[in-house]
Amino acid sequence: MDDCIIIGAGPAGLTAAIYLARFHLAIRLFDCGSSRAAQIPCTRNHAGFPDGISGKELLGRMLAQAERHGAVREGAEVTGLERIENGFGVRVGTRALAARTVLLATGVVNHRPDMPAALHDAALARGLLRYCPICDGYEVTDKRIGVIGTGGHGMREAMFLRAYSADVTLIAPQAHALSAKEAGMLDAAGIARVEGPCGGHAIEGDRIALDTARGRMAFDSIYPALGSTIRSGLALQVGARADGNGCLEVDEHQRTSVSGLFAAGDVARGLDQISHAMGEAGVAATAIRNLLAGQRPLRR
Ligand SMILES: Cc1cc2nc3c(=O)[nH]c(=O)nc-3n(C[C@H](O)[C@H](O)[C@H](O)COP(=O)(O)OP(=O)(O)OC[C@H]3O[C@@H](n4cnc5c(N)ncnc54)[C@H](O)[C@@H]3O)c2cc1C
Repeated sequence: MDDCIIIGAGPAGLTAAIYLARFHLAIRLFDCGSSRAAQIPCTRNHAGFPDGISGKELLGRMLAQAERHGAVREGAEVTGLERIENGFGVRVGTRALAARTVLLATGVVNHRPDMPAALHDAALARGLLRYCPICDGYEVTDKRIGVIGTGGHGMREAMFLRAYSADVTLIAPQAHALSAKEAGMLDAAGIARVEGPCGGHAIEGDRIALDTARGRMAFDSIYPALGSTIRSGLALQVGARADGNGCLEVDEHQRTSVSGLFAAGDVARGLDQISHAMGEAGVAATAIRNLLAGQRPLRR
């Protein structure tokens, strides 16, 4: 039986792997290759990198650090989780593994605007499409910004970005679904509201353009605010508690409501940021070490 199986090798899972390997624990690390961090062209808010660093480069450095301490990342999807005596059964394809503890670091998947994948990736790489105002709102200071979304989520994202630029437009994928209060707040902040259809996305020169009810509009950057899918399904399989969106509830030691099951990073409720994912993983790894210390013999 392994001491811990880590599911996910983004910033959270890799941080946990570094800590747990350095605690001399027997771990496995599985990853199916879809870290949100890998999509970051260049993060400029992650401390320690004054010139910024790409998400792939950061993940590569973290993996090298984990490997230096003996951790191995297996490129495979964990497909099942169940409770067994003294731990968890973990299914990876046809393999059935067992671990005393499990750390879920599976992150979330952003809902994308309806556009071809190649266009999406090209726009993301050039900063024409952005997903994280906390991360890179600074980069669009005084630019022409579009937000695709509606309801409270779209409104909050547009209001957040209004602190960076006076030129913010909230575009509804179809029609706006805003309360009178939300519409009033947007009006007071000078945020334009435009109805969809929100199609025909294309890169036009240095801007990204799309069709709206007001005709074609072009922006320096568009932020989709269309929600995300939380990858907490494995934890829900064993009965872990989550909020209405599927975000896992954790305590101050990153313990879920299921004994021995921990969660860190975007999959747990909190700030969806690299630094937060790393901090949570450090807390989780130390809590896992302390839990196991009471169950297994100490190193001779
Ligand atoms: C475009 C963009 C820009 C961003 N910019 C910044 C920034 O500048 N600064 C910042 O702090 N944050 C930024 N973020 C947010 C940041 O990427 C996330 O907060 C961070 O990646 C969360 O780390 P994580 O380890 O929780 O999840 P992730 O990085 O998403 O990693 C989760 C991993 O779990 C794996 N996984 C999922 N399910 C399974 C399974 N069943 N079996 C095996 N593996 C599985 C996935 O393959 C993935 O590799 C940005 C996000 C995006 C999308």
